[in-house]
Amino acid sequence: MAGPENFMRVPTAQPKRTLYTDAMEIFHRAADTIGLAPRVRLELEEPDYEHIFYVTAKLKDRLRPLSPEAAKAFGELPVTQVRDPNGLERLADGQIILNGKALLGSDVNIRRGHLRLPDGGVYQLVPGESQRFKAYRVQHNQARGPYKGGIRYHREVSLDLFKALAAEMTWKTAIAEVPFGGGKGGIAIDPRQYGREELEAITLRFMYKLKKLIGPNIDIPAPDVGTNGEIMALMMRQYLDGERERVVGKAIVTGKDVRIGGSEGRVKATGQGVVYCIEDYYADKGETLKGKTYTVQGFGNVGSFAAEIMHGLGARLLAVNDADGTVFNPEGIDVPALMAYVADPKNLKRSVLGFPGAAKIEKKAFWEVPVDVLIPAALGGEITGDVAERLQVKLIAEGANGPTTPDADRVLQKRGIDLIPDIIANAGGVTVSYYEWIQNKRMESWSEAEVNAKLEHALKRNYRIIRDISRNTPRKTEMHDSRPFCVGKQVEPRLAAMILALKRIEAHYIIEGFSQ
Ligand code: NAD
Repeated sequence: MAGPENFMRVPTAQPKRTLYTDAMEIFHRAADTIGLAPRVRLELEEPDYEHIFYVTAKLKDRLRPLSPEAAKAFGELPVTQVRDPNGLERLADGQIILNGKALLGSDVNIRRGHLRLPDGGVYQLVPGESQRFKAYRVQHNQARGPYKGGIRYHREVSLDLFKALAAEMTWKTAIAEVPFGGGKGGIAIDPRQYGREELEAITLRFMYKLKKLIGPNIDIPAPDVGTNGEIMALMMRQYLDGERERVVGKAIVTGKDVRIGGSEGRVKATGQGVVYCIEDYYADKGETLKGKTYTVQGFGNVGSFAAEIMHGLGARLLAVNDADGTVFNPEGIDVPALMAYVADPKNLKRSVLGFPGAAKIEKKAFWEVPVDVLIPAALGGEITGDVAERLQVKLIAEGANGPTTPDADRVLQKRGIDLIPDIIANAGGVTVSYYEWIQNKRMESWSEAEVNAKLEHALKRNYRIIRDISRNTPRKTEMHDSRPFCVGKQVEPRLAAMILALKRIEAHYIIEGFSQ
C-alpha cells in the first residue's frame, strides 16, 4: 500500500522575493534581535492600508519633433510664424506643449498634420487626448501619529515600492522622534513629458481622489522624487478649496513655499541633515569635513544641497552622477557654479551633463572614484553587490531612500566601509516637515537659524544613540541617553537604527495596548 510519502506533496509556499521583502529583511533581523512582541511584528510587517486608484486628465495639444530624416518629406513646408511664442512650452524630450491659444492668430501652415517652426524643425501636431494614470497611497503605520510621507511622480513606481517607502517612513519618524507614522504614494508618470498646466490638472485630480483618505491629522504628504513645493501648493489649494476653515488646513501638506506656510530651511533640510550626520561621524573621530573628498549621485533637491553644504564646510566634490550622465573633476567641482548650471532654464533636463567645469565620464567609472564619502541621493537599489565591490570610499551617507541592496550591505561590511543608514541620514526632511506642521498649527513662523539649531540637535542626538547601539556602549550624556536601546552586543549601523525605531514604536503597543 502506498504510504503517505508516495502522494504528491504540495510544496510549502516560499514567499516571493520582492523589493518589499528585501526592504523588510532588516526589520525582521531587528525584530529577532530585540524579541519584538509577535503581535507588534504582525502589525508592522504589512501596511495598515494600501490604496490604488486612477486619475484621468485631458492633455493639451502638442508638437512632436520629427527626426531630420523624417523631416525631409516636408522640405517645402513654409515656416509657421507663431503670434504668441509664450504659449509654446518646450519639454526636455523635445516635445512642445501648446498652452492657451498658442497658434491662434498665427500664420499657420499645416501639411498632413505637420508644421515647421521658426527653429527650422518639423513637428507633428498631436491633438490633446484624455489619459489615465495609476496612483497610489500606502499608509503603513500610525501607532506614533498621523501617516507622513512623500509624493513621488515617476514612471517606475509600484505598490511594492510604495509599501517599502511607506514602511521606511514609519522607521524614520520614530528615529527622528517626530510624532508621525509612515506613508508614501504618488503617480506612475514621467513628469518631464508633461507641461505645467497638464501637471497641474493631474495633481488637482490626484488630490480630488486622495482627499477622502488624508487630512492634517490623518496623513500628511510632502515632496519626493519628481514633485516639489509647487506641486504641494496645488495639493493644498485643492484640499482647501471650498473649506470654511482654510487656515487650520494648511498643515495638510509640508514642503510648501515659505510664502504660503512653508518652513524656513525645509527646502535644504534633507541635504542639511545628511551633512549634520557626516559632520558628527567625523567629530566622533576628532576630525572635520575640511579637506575631505566626496562624490554625489543625484543632483536634485537632496544631492545638490548636501553638495553645497559640504562644499561650504571645505570638502571637495570630485564627481556627480545623475539620470543623464556623470561629470568628474579631480581638482574639485565648483559646486555653486554647478548648481547655477543645473538651474539654468536653458538646461531643460536639469542635468549636470555638459557642465564646463568638469569632464564627462561613464557611470561605471563614477563608482570607482576614490573619495572619503559617497552620498547616494538618487533612487533606490543603485548600490548593488557588484557596485559595492568596486567602491573606493570610506563612508556612505545615504541621502536617497534604500540606495543599498541587502547584498551590497554584506559586501560593505566585509570590506569595512562605514555607513550612515538612510533612516537617520535623510531624516532631516521629515524632521523639518514636522516643524512646518507645528508652525502651521500654531500659526507661527520660525527663523532658519532656529529651525537648523533644532534639526542639528535632533539628528545628532539620535545618530549618537544609533552609534552607541551599534558599538554596544550604553551611556547617558547631556545630549542623549542610549541606555534603553543597546542590546548587549555590537550590531551593524543599519540594524542599530532599526532597533531604535522598533523599540520606540513597540512602546506604544506595549503601553497603550491594542483596541479590539
Ligand atoms: P529629485 O527629483 O529632486 O532629484 C533626483 C535626482 O536623481 C536627479 O538629479 C536625477 O537626475 C537623479 N536620478 C534619477 N534617476 C537616476 C539614475 N537612474 N541614476 C542616477 N541618477 C538618477 O529628488 P530628491 O527629492 O532629491 O530625492 C532623491 C532621493 O532622496 C530619493 O531617494 C528620495 O526618496 C530621497 N529623499 C528625499 C527627501 C526630500 O526631502 N526631497 C527626503 C528624504 C529622502
